[in-house]
Amino acid sequence: MSELALSLRDVVVEYRRRRGLFGAASINRAVNGVSFDVRFGESFGLVGESGSGKSTTARAALGLEPLAAGNVELDGIQLAHASGAQLRQMRARSQLVFQDPYSSLDPSMTIGQSLAEPLRVHRPYSATERRQRVAEALRAVGLDSAQANRHPQEFSGGQRQRICIARAMILDPAVIVLDEPVSALDVSTQGQILNLLLDLQKTHGTTYLLISHDLSMVRNMTHRMAVMYLGRIVETGPSQRVFSRPGHPYTAALISAILEPHRDRQRQRRRILIDGDMPSSWSPPPGCCFHTRCPFAMDICGRVVPATIAMEGGGEAACHLHTEGPGLAGRSVLELLMYTRRTPQRRLI
Ligand code: SF4
Repeated sequence: MSELALSLRDVVVEYRRRRGLFGAASINRAVNGVSFDVRFGESFGLVGESGSGKSTTARAALGLEPLAAGNVELDGIQLAHASGAQLRQMRARSQLVFQDPYSSLDPSMTIGQSLAEPLRVHRPYSATERRQRVAEALRAVGLDSAQANRHPQEFSGGQRQRICIARAMILDPAVIVLDEPVSALDVSTQGQILNLLLDLQKTHGTTYLLISHDLSMVRNMTHRMAVMYLGRIVETGPSQRVFSRPGHPYTAALISAILEPHRDRQRQRRRILIDGDMPSSWSPPPGCCFHTRCPFAMDICGRVVPATIAMEGGGEAACHLHTEGPGLAGRSVLELLMYTRRTPQRRLI
């Protein structure tokens, strides 16, 4: 059996629009040649600003977006060549936990009915077996199984997110996609839900694809990660290496904007400041997709798409700094800051 729960290879997702009846069609490559693997039992983080393509990538990984090119393999099933039965199997083997637990549950159903629904569709269980599985799932997320007859509106936001996690886990999926899973919750509840997710991973070996713009959360929750910008992955690697030795200026800028809880460490931190907004993916810039905002941009950056370079400590970064200019050659962008004062003081990201 493959050790990969999920594998994306050169995935492209496109949207098209036409100006007027006879106007030329323009294409938005919301996801542009994305590749990464998620192993069974690991947490993989996908980070980037809003509009970077991370949620579209996650939907493509679940077979919810048509692919213009590339392939997705989930638990050994290739999406591009899947039969109807295999697609149904894929739906059962991948589950999604949404950002907003308030709109994720049907208010007309009891939570017992909501949790039993995927079992009814995908498993040949009797009513008694379904009730047993629902009770087990509720207990696994720290809720009383006697609450199965209640409706979602009788629960707090944190409890509702626990119910959504229980529903995602009830079919024992190969991968659970967590799309900003705590951003709609208050801060104290966020910690409880993240701890629950970590505990479930320890006890059940659950595999997560975590989508978030919150880098602190990704640092604490994931084993490996990818950083997206304008539909492309600009850096990938073990989370520990990416946070301590980022190989791409965009990653380094995102990390330098995280607030450190310790005041002295916060004072020592060198900020990398980037200017302006992300360009539209309907008209992406030529060359490196980040060159319009990069504080280290060189002439070549506006003309040539950078190749990915292997990083010391694992993973890759797509940046000309590793082959041109100072020639970082797989080292951290932070080392560049040691011998350059070129950090523009324009605007904090
Ligand atoms: Fe900046 Fe050039 Fe590297 Fe792009 S390739 S991130 S513009 S230095």
